[in-house]
Amino acid sequence: MPVVQNRAPVYVALLAMALAVALVAAWTPLGTQIDRYAYDWMFRLYQPPPWQTQSILLAIDEPSLSAFGGIPGLRNALAEGLERIAPAAPKAVAVDVLLADATAGDAPLEAAFARVPNLILASDLLPDGKGWDDPIPAFRRSAAAVGHVHTDLDADAVSRELPLEKAAGRDRRWALALEAFRLSRAATPIVESPEELQVAGVVIPAARDTGRALRIRYVPPGMPPIPRVSLKQLHDDPTLARQFGGKVVFAGVTAQTGARDRWVTPYSSIPVPGLEINANAFETLAQQRFLTDAPAWAVLLLAVSLAAAAGLTFRYLAGWPAYVAASAILLAAHAAPYVFFTRGSVMPLMPPVSAAWLTLIAAALWQHWIMRGRLDRSEAERVRYQHAMQFVTHEMRTPLTAIQGSSELMERYSMSEERRKQIAQLIHSESKRLGRMIEIFLNVERLSAGDAELKRENFTALELVSACVERVRPLAERKQIHVTLGAIPDALLEGDRELMEYAVYNLLTNAIKYSPASTEVSAFGHREGKHVYISVQDQGMGMDRTEVRRIFQKFYRTAKAEQSGEAGTGIGLSIVEQILARHGGGITVESQPGKGSCFTLELPVGAATTSPARTH
Ligand code: ADP
Repeated sequence: MPVVQNRAPVYVALLAMALAVALVAAWTPLGTQIDRYAYDWMFRLYQPPPWQTQSILLAIDEPSLSAFGGIPGLRNALAEGLERIAPAAPKAVAVDVLLADATAGDAPLEAAFARVPNLILASDLLPDGKGWDDPIPAFRRSAAAVGHVHTDLDADAVSRELPLEKAAGRDRRWALALEAFRLSRAATPIVESPEELQVAGVVIPAARDTGRALRIRYVPPGMPPIPRVSLKQLHDDPTLARQFGGKVVFAGVTAQTGARDRWVTPYSSIPVPGLEINANAFETLAQQRFLTDAPAWAVLLLAVSLAAAAGLTFRYLAGWPAYVAASAILLAAHAAPYVFFTRGSVMPLMPPVSAAWLTLIAAALWQHWIMRGRLDRSEAERVRYQHAMQFVTHEMRTPLTAIQGSSELMERYSMSEERRKQIAQLIHSESKRLGRMIEIFLNVERLSAGDAELKRENFTALELVSACVERVRPLAERKQIHVTLGAIPDALLEGDRELMEYAVYNLLTNAIKYSPASTEVSAFGHREGKHVYISVQDQGMGMDRTEVRRIFQKFYRTAKAEQSGEAGTGIGLSIVEQILARHGGGITVESQPGKGSCFTLELPVGAATTSPARTH
C-alpha cells in the first residue's frame, strides 16, 4: 500500500526554515553592506521634489587660500569675509573651522565674530573620545552655541547619516547643523524624548539609542546646489555679500589642502568637504525631509508575506503561471524598498529580497520533488496494473476454455446422465471460479478508486463473522473440516460491510484451503478498549517467518500453497490488508509450519472509514 501522509506541515516548515535563513543572511556584514549599496542606489534613482535651499556656503577654497597666505592667513581671511557678510544680516553663521588654539593675530576674527548674529562655532571630539577640542574662550564669548562636527561614517566610509548628539563622558554637544537650525528658528530650546527631538515645532525622528542619527537628504544633482561663495570671490566683489541675507551661512574650508575632512556621499564617489555635508544636514532639518527606518515589524511582515506568496504560488500553480507569479514576487521584493524610499521610509533591501529568493527556490524544489515522486508512483502503479491485467486475463482463460469446451461437448454429443452431470458440475465450478475472480477484480478497483466508493454502514462484529462462517460451511464440509464459531463481541462497527465480509471470508477460505481434511477451523474474537479483535485459526500447513513476511504482497503464494493443488491467485491477502487499513484497522499473523496459522483482524469500535490524508 502506498504510504500516504500529509506533507503540508513539512512544506510550511521548509518555507519557515528558508525564511529564517534568509533573515539571518540579511543580518550578516555582507547583507548590511548590500543594504547600504541599495540605499545609495535608491538615493540616486529617486528625484525628490525640488526645494528652495535656505543655506549658503562661505567657502575657503584653493584660490582663497593662495590669495590670503595659506593656512596661516586663514583666520584673517575669515575675519574679512565675516565682516563683509555681517551687514547683510544672515540668519545664523556656523563656522566649521576648529579654533582651539590662540594665535598672535586673533583680534580681527574675534571682532568679526562679535558682529555676526547667531554664531555657532565648531568643536570636535578629541582623538581619545574623552573630551572636546573646543574653540578658545576669546572666540566662544561671541558664540551663541558650539556644535560638534564629528561624523559617524558607515563601515564603507560613506557619509549617510549624522549623529545629532555626541557626548564625551557627560559633556554633550548637539551637531553644528542642528544648532544652526535651532538658532535660525528663534533659538527655541531642543525638546528631547527617547524617540525624537523637537525644535520650533519640528519633530525630528532621531532616536536616542541610535545616537540621534539623522539620515542626510543631500540636495539631488538635478536641483540647483546650495549656493557657494568663496572668500576670494567675496573679496573681489563685495556686492556678493547680499546673497547671505536671511540665509544660514556655513563657513569653512573646502580646499583639498586645508580641509579637515572630506567624505563620499550616496551621490558622489568624489569626496565632499565636511562643510557641505553639514549644510546638507541643515537642509534636511530645514526642509523636514526626513528619511526614517521602516519599523522592524513592517520588514518582518513583508518578508513573511513574500514567503507565504512563494509557498502558495508553487502549491497551487504549475508550469509557466507559477514562474510568472514567482517573477512577480521577486519584482515586488526588489521594488518594495524603493516604494518605501519614495515615501521617506528606509526599508533594507536584503530581508525581502533574500526571503523571496530563498523561499521561492525552496518551494520550487519541493514541488518539483513531489511531482517527481507522484510521477514515479503513478508509473509504478501503471506497471502493477498491467501485470495484474495480464495475470487475470491469463487466469480467466483457463476456466473460460473449460466452460466453452464442456458446453460444446454437451451440445454436440449425446451422453449418459452421469457424464452430463459431471460436465455440468465442471461448468458450475469453473463459472464460480470466474465469478470469484471478477469479485476480486471489482474489489481491487473499488479500493483503488478511493473513499468515495467506500460505503458507511453499521453492523456488529458478530453479524459479520457469523454470516461469513455460514457462507463458508459448504466448502469446509467438502474437506470434512469443522468450523466453529467462538465468542464474538457484539460491538458495533462502521464501514463497508461487503468489503469487510470479503476480508473475513478470505481468511476463512484460506484456513480451509491450506488445511488438511478433518481438521478444525475456528473463528473467535474479543474486545479490548476501543478495539475489536477477530481471529481465524486453523491446524493447517502453516508458514515460516519469511513466508509470513511476504504473504501480503500481491500475487505471492508460498511454495507449499502452490503444491497443495488449491486454486489461488495470491492477491486476496493484499486486498484484505488494504480493506483493514481503510477502516483504520490492521492485520497480524502467527504461524508455525506444519502446526497451523492464526490470522487476527484489529478494528476500531464504531470505526468510520478513515480518509487517508491526501499527499501534497
Ligand atoms: P491465495 O489464497 O489466492 O493464494 P492470498 O493472498 O489469500 O492468496 O494468500 C496468499 C498466500 O498466503 C497463500 O497463497 C498461502 O501461501 C498463504 N496463506 C494464506 N492463508 C494461509 C493459511 N491459513 N495457512 C497457510 N498459508 C496461508
